[in-house]
Amino acid sequence: MSKPSLNIQILIGAVAGVLIGLYFHGLGVAHPMVKDGLYTVGLVGTLFIDLLKMILVPLVFCSIAVGIANLRQHRQIHRVWVTTLLFFVLTMAIAIVLGMSASLYFKPGAGMHIAMFQGAMQGFEAKQMALPEFFAQFLHGLFVNPFAALAKGDVLAVVMFALVLGIALVVGGERYKNIHNLLQEALEITMHIVGWVMRLAPLGIAALLIKLVATQDAAMLSTLAKFVAVVVGTTLLHGAVILPMLLYFITGTSPLKFWRGAREALITAFATSSSSATLPVTLRCTTQHLRVKPEIAGFVVPLGATINMDGTALYEAAAALFIANLVGVELNFTQQLVVFMTAMIAAIGAPGIPSAGMVTMVMVLQSVGLPAEAIAILLPIDRALDTLRTSVNVEGDMVTSLVVQKLIK
Ligand code: ASP
Repeated sequence: MSKPSLNIQILIGAVAGVLIGLYFHGLGVAHPMVKDGLYTVGLVGTLFIDLLKMILVPLVFCSIAVGIANLRQHRQIHRVWVTTLLFFVLTMAIAIVLGMSASLYFKPGAGMHIAMFQGAMQGFEAKQMALPEFFAQFLHGLFVNPFAALAKGDVLAVVMFALVLGIALVVGGERYKNIHNLLQEALEITMHIVGWVMRLAPLGIAALLIKLVATQDAAMLSTLAKFVAVVVGTTLLHGAVILPMLLYFITGTSPLKFWRGAREALITAFATSSSSATLPVTLRCTTQHLRVKPEIAGFVVPLGATINMDGTALYEAAAALFIANLVGVELNFTQQLVVFMTAMIAAIGAPGIPSAGMVTMVMVLQSVGLPAEAIAILLPIDRALDTLRTSVNVEGDMVTSLVVQKLIK
């Protein structure tokens, strides 16, 4: 029998990871075998993420610069820009409306008492982050010395510099042909290395999921069951129904075809909870399996990985309403609008790393005067919820690539 395809291996890895994780969870983390097992999967999982991160920065840099430079031939840069940003905002807005409507309807947290969580909140100090301050910080982080940004792995700043470089390549045209070719080849070779890293993906994903499932705080998950159900339900609705439907109506791509092309990235996002770490895989799926032109995917996907986060936007809004219920505050329509806006800004500003949404959520809470400390309640369950929302974040980037490719034709 021939070896199953990588796609199938990844699927098997994910399922095996969850099952072994459940088994470990049953035995308890104090069990000697589980201890050793967790140590080993910790090493393998970290190695996989390290390899993805190793290739991430060169990939983002080359892919955006080359993507922009190659768009020159199409004379469509402007339309690509506008379509991409509009679609990012549109899908995030839909996600937030979904999350907020479900929260308003089901009212998770109502009837519970914040005093129940006194233990969790004790000793927790939320970093103060008001909207103007957040905005200033975000703006300040955009333009950074490119060498420092590359060295520190500061993805957003790398994206910005690569955009500027790409535009300079377009404006310079033939004059900078050599640099353009060099970057093009660098991009091809990094994608080649991504192919190597992916061979480890089935194992890496299994390891990450074993650790996640085995160490999850199940008690807290069930205490907050209603909130978890609202978030998981609406995130699934957005990811499995709304986005595929938009994709189908705009491009004619069937959901099944999309899933087949996208699943490597979706599962990697689920296991790593990081859009950034998943980016090499996302780019590979978008260009190689979903057949989006590299100049479009090379621009949309890295940009989307840092600013387009449907799952995070939904979560931030739903969580804000949950906390409002918990502390017994009734938010009026204006305050709900503020939550809508700040959730979007918070999602755009959140970096593509695990639990980033938790940090920017402080701003959403503070914008309507909710206690920021309350996120201490959500922290124990955040890693579990982060899986699905990161998958949907990554899905949004791939869907946008396909949509942009179709619309600018
Ligand atoms: N983990 C998410 C991502 O990387 C961000 C978040 O925490 O919501 O896309």
